[in-house]
Amino acid sequence: MTTTTLKTKKVLAVRGPGSNHWVGDGFPVRNLFPSNGIDAQVNPFLMLDYAGPLEFKPTQKRQGVGEHPHRGFETVTIAYQGAVDHRDSAGNAGTIFPGDVQWMTAASGVVHEEKHERAFAEKGGTFEMVQLWVNLPAKEKMSTPRYQAIAKEQIPSVKLGAESYARVIAGELNGVKGPAKTFTPVNVFDVRAKAGEQFDLALPEGQNSAVVLLKGKIRLNGETTLEEAQIAVVDLDGSGVSVDVAEDSTLLVLSGEPINEPVASYGPFVMNTEEELAQAVADYRSGKMGHLG
Ligand code: MN
Repeated sequence: MTTTTLKTKKVLAVRGPGSNHWVGDGFPVRNLFPSNGIDAQVNPFLMLDYAGPLEFKPTQKRQGVGEHPHRGFETVTIAYQGAVDHRDSAGNAGTIFPGDVQWMTAASGVVHEEKHERAFAEKGGTFEMVQLWVNLPAKEKMSTPRYQAIAKEQIPSVKLGAESYARVIAGELNGVKGPAKTFTPVNVFDVRAKAGEQFDLALPEGQNSAVVLLKGKIRLNGETTLEEAQIAVVDLDGSGVSVDVAEDSTLLVLSGEPINEPVASYGPFVMNTEEELAQAVADYRSGKMGHLG
């Protein structure tokens, strides 16, 4: 528990999913942004898809998304239930199990596929993941791709209450640093909160911040109720938010220094100009981003 006085970050908006759709045949997602018009308030984050929780029947099929490219940003996959197999044109492959995080820097270009892990698919079960897109500053958009497979054992926890805690995936909370390397200052916390507890969450002054409630029910700053699959965006000003936990909850807490550069996006490409987007399409089509073997 923090004892310092909190200068509360004001809640600017609360939104539910702006879109419900399938990504391939494996990811039934509720999109929390950008479908609901809060882009500017979550900069440098570009997109957040909350997949599931949904029960999948046993199958021999390879469900998920086949070969597709990314350029100009990072994809962060956080697994809650189920498992995802990944392989890409840079030769990286691995499985993201519950508690694990994959932080993939597409940068100049990666082609990959994301599929339910074979053993999970054959057995069936509940599938629940988040995919978050983090923008890169212009000077890093064409840098070399990078792949961080972060196992759950590598992610440190910070105690927030008797049974509430935050797993620090990226950035820093109460002096505890997360393992993910980032290009700009970014915090990503996986918070598990126990009903009846109350705690403060420190978030940096000058960073856009958002609290995504995946499951449960909380009250922010003593006044704003958040329910399942809702996001609250809070002000740059202030040093954090207070959380009253009404029901056992899973929160994803994001904050980051805004990247104040133009954003031009087209599907899986996020650049600064239309010309760069056209180049990305051309480079993918001509095989410059590679292919899966
Ligand atoms: Mn992808």
